[in-house]
Amino acid sequence: MIVDRLQAVRDRITTACAASGRDPAGVRLLAVSKTFGPDAVMAAIAGGQRAFGENYIQEGVEKILTVRESLAGLSASISSHASPFEWHCIGPIQSNKTRLVAAHFDWVQSVDRLKIAQRLNEQRPAHLPPLQICLQVNIDGGPTKAGVAPDEAPALAAEVAQLPRLQLRGLMSIPEPAPDFVATCAVHQRARDLFDHINAAGVLPQPMDTLSIGMTADLEAAIHAGSTMVRVGTAIFGKR
Ligand SMILES: *Cc1c(COP(=O)(O)O)cnc(C)c1O
Repeated sequence: MIVDRLQAVRDRITTACAASGRDPAGVRLLAVSKTFGPDAVMAAIAGGQRAFGENYIQEGVEKILTVRESLAGLSASISSHASPFEWHCIGPIQSNKTRLVAAHFDWVQSVDRLKIAQRLNEQRPAHLPPLQICLQVNIDGGPTKAGVAPDEAPALAAEVAQLPRLQLRGLMSIPEPAPDFVATCAVHQRARDLFDHINAAGVLPQPMDTLSIGMTADLEAAIHAGSTMVRVGTAIFGKR
């Protein structure tokens, strides 16, 4: 079931890439497992999925630990420390949760202010590689208000890029649903333009490589606009 739906999502990505003249290898799939249990994650792992996204910190950390234990029981190689599994924090982060996030996640895509980035930088354990970071941008001024304003994003990117225990990888956004494909492409294009603008501004030691846009409902439009990572929950795990 989950394996079949995972394959269907991969097929959607391949088709969307073909329609935009893009190489499917340039679009990663993040499986958003929020609200689903470790069993659902294990089923996706059996289907070859390796990168998972979680919104709620406590729930995410418990799942990470449970899945790691299950994998350890399966095979020594798959549970080795250099495992290719990746956990992405994609939900809002309060200051009092940064320590948990820094200790357990590999990526954080929802950084929208310097204070949170600084705490993650200070709290990232020394034995782990730098935390991979995307800035969440409020690209359409949506009512959730999460995300840095687009005109403040270049300065925040420059500051985050200086923090030694973080590695700035890109931008993430969650625009409000638009009425049709063309309008959805247009809003995603704004994220793409901002991404290109920051990379071209010469304020980063190295260019960002990750544009995290597109979910179950709009991944085709996001890929058209240049997404390098789609975050898909419903189409893989079912309705929440
Ligand atoms: C829940 C969520 C997703 C996945 O949404 P679906 O519509 O279920 O694919 C992607 N990104 C973020 C930040 C989310 O919170």
